[in-house]
Amino acid sequence: MRGIVQGVGFRPFVYSNASRRALHGRVLNNAAGVLIDLEGDASEIDHFVHELQSNPPPLASIESIERLADLVPLDYADFQILESDSVGRKSAAVSADVGTCDDCLRELFDRANRRYGYPFINCTNCGPRFTIVKRVPYDRKNTTMQSFEMCDACRAEYENPLDRRFHAEPTACEACGPCLHLLDREGRYFSGDAVATAAKLLTAGKILAIKGIGGFHLACDALSKEAVAELRGRKFREDKPFALMARSVEMIRAFCRISNNESALLESPARPIVLLERKRGNAIPRDVAPGVNTLGFMLPYAPLHYLLLEALNRPLVMTSGNISDEPICFRDDDANERLNGIADYFLVHDRPIHIRTDDSVVRSFNEREMVLRRSRGFAPAPIRTSFKFERSILACGAELKNTFCLARGHSAFVSHHIGDLENLETLRSFTEGIEHFKHLFDIDPDVVAYDLHPEYLSTKYALSLNNVSDKFAVQHHHAHVASCMADNQIDGEVIGVAFDGLGFGLDGKLWGGEFFVADFCDAERVVHLANVPLPGGAKAIREPWRLAAVYLQRALGNNFAELNLPFTRALDPARWTTLNSMIAARVNCPETSSMGRLFDAVSGLLTLRSSVNYEGQAAIELEGIAERVATGFYEFQIAGDAISAEPVVCKIVEDLLEDVPIGQISARFHLSVAHLIVNVAQKIREERHLNRVVLSGGVFQNMWLLERVTGLLRESHFDVFTHRRVPTNDGGISLGQAAVANARLGRGH
Ligand code: ZN
Ligand code: ZN
Ligand code: FE
Repeated sequence: MRGIVQGVGFRPFVYSNASRRALHGRVLNNAAGVLIDLEGDASEIDHFVHELQSNPPPLASIESIERLADLVPLDYADFQILESDSVGRKSAAVSADVGTCDDCLRELFDRANRRYGYPFINCTNCGPRFTIVKRVPYDRKNTTMQSFEMCDACRAEYENPLDRRFHAEPTACEACGPCLHLLDREGRYFSGDAVATAAKLLTAGKILAIKGIGGFHLACDALSKEAVAELRGRKFREDKPFALMARSVEMIRAFCRISNNESALLESPARPIVLLERKRGNAIPRDVAPGVNTLGFMLPYAPLHYLLLEALNRPLVMTSGNISDEPICFRDDDANERLNGIADYFLVHDRPIHIRTDDSVVRSFNEREMVLRRSRGFAPAPIRTSFKFERSILACGAELKNTFCLARGHSAFVSHHIGDLENLETLRSFTEGIEHFKHLFDIDPDVVAYDLHPEYLSTKYALSLNNVSDKFAVQHHHAHVASCMADNQIDGEVIGVAFDGLGFGLDGKLWGGEFFVADFCDAERVVHLANVPLPGGAKAIREPWRLAAVYLQRALGNNFAELNLPFTRALDPARWTTLNSMIAARVNCPETSSMGRLFDAVSGLLTLRSSVNYEGQAAIELEGIAERVATGFYEFQIAGDAISAEPVVCKIVEDLLEDVPIGQISARFHLSVAHLIVNVAQKIREERHLNRVVLSGGVFQNMWLLERVTGLLRESHFDVFTHRRVPTNDGGISLGQAAVANARLGRGH
């Protein structure tokens, strides 16, 4: 029998299974997966295959087992594991980083084990992968473990086919592997037990920079108001929610509601941050996540985390080791420099991180995983597509929350989260990341896809490439819809709804409230939110009061300022006069049809936010205050291909004047948007006989909206598709671009 399977940690499993059944033959990894040659008793071979299917090793993903019968017997005398076949494609080579497995955990806390308390314990089933790989093939000498010479005991395990650490490339122990150090700000080392001392410092309210798997975290006691406030202050008072880490699901239950699916997500090998609904009156200070109803918790994923949390027995803030929007630190010297004003102490180690990789963020939607930031634990595993990429494609993604994507065959290698392409450091991660992926997956793209926005750094990069034969500019919101289609493995024409922040439109205006009839090739813009001016351009994104004033003026005329509303009372007449003359003269006022900006406007109108300090904050806080049940909703007006929000704004003003609580107004507004989608989808269904609705864009990170709109659409018998494997925000754009470019190639442009 010969068969082909794929996965991590397969060969030792196959070896022991075959030996037990007295089967002879060979096993090796090759390009397509694992190749097994077996000879012996036919029923034993059946049992072997059955066990492979029913009880595979933890990290194996068996896509298919192909049995090749009727081969000439080679009369093997034994069973052997052969060295990997390094010729051919390497796509099976590098997996994502995996959280510490149960076997390693047991050893970590077993006093009798030689790796007791060793912060870098790992095995074939767990440990760092993607973050330490410098080159392929995936061998120790090609990782950042190259400088650590294995001791005899570790080498014996590494070479024993029956051992859990057979060819576990990062395997190590106290005697031969990386070690942990605790330093103060001046670079002075602490002697003694670094973990125990670090735990003491954290308990005393200190802030520590901790080097992990994909970068540095900033950590402090999550239950200490003072420590959390101090960390916020030192991070320049940014408002972005901090991520938290706790020892167990049970510990998290004290603070958050957790469904079965959510606990499974927390415990999954990727160990992502899971956004959970916070319980009322829980002990986590408000400052951890101001203005939102969720807390982002993760379980430990490195042995160091387990040791630290065991010593503390309380949750930690574990937020990215960076200053506001900069990328997280991952090199020791960089951390020393950039985090010195923030951290009191540094808990570091000498295993270099090769690729900066942020924690991933997911949430549970309809009892399924919905990925919001796809990074550590997921990347670089490919997104499988139902269609085939006939040529090798590089898609450069968007500007904010950038990812890129290299695609070939049925695989789209969507990169880890690169970040906002606004500074040199992230641009370098982007360009170096592309080179790294090209090498890891042996893809040399000759087609490149990019966003239509001429000013995106990713666009400029794409246009600068010389040795590619085709280039495709893809409209941002078409890419969103295509991304969601590829994510759900569907094809053909759909009703595409792209509700988003801002993206460059085909008419040069800024889109973001769009209804399309779309397939992978084309997107016909059927209806969209009416354009409004965005006074001050980027400034209007940071100051939602501007959008609120714009919408009020359009709905109620110039006299709106005389209304007796909290918003108008707070409005600075001089600033409004300036703004108004800018609008009248059309100076620095690009037009936009963005739904994200309408959420900003409503947030501003309810005086939740006059300015924001992270992207999407106004809309997130608007969702945060929304009551669970809306007792009514407002009607948008649809005239031709434009949707006017003015009647909605008028009704909100009426509600405000009647002292309807803002939490209820927010709920009504959310429900209005849900009903708008259903109404427009019904119209398109009547005209075009399409029944599939695809929802994509940053606005659908809003769970209040997403839950209601999917429910209402299903009640109206639509097939509804939302994101699962790639983010609905701009992190999913690269996949959509690749899909559109591929479809256009197939059509002959
Ligand atoms: Zn392990
Ligand atoms: Zn060792
Ligand atoms: Fe977008």
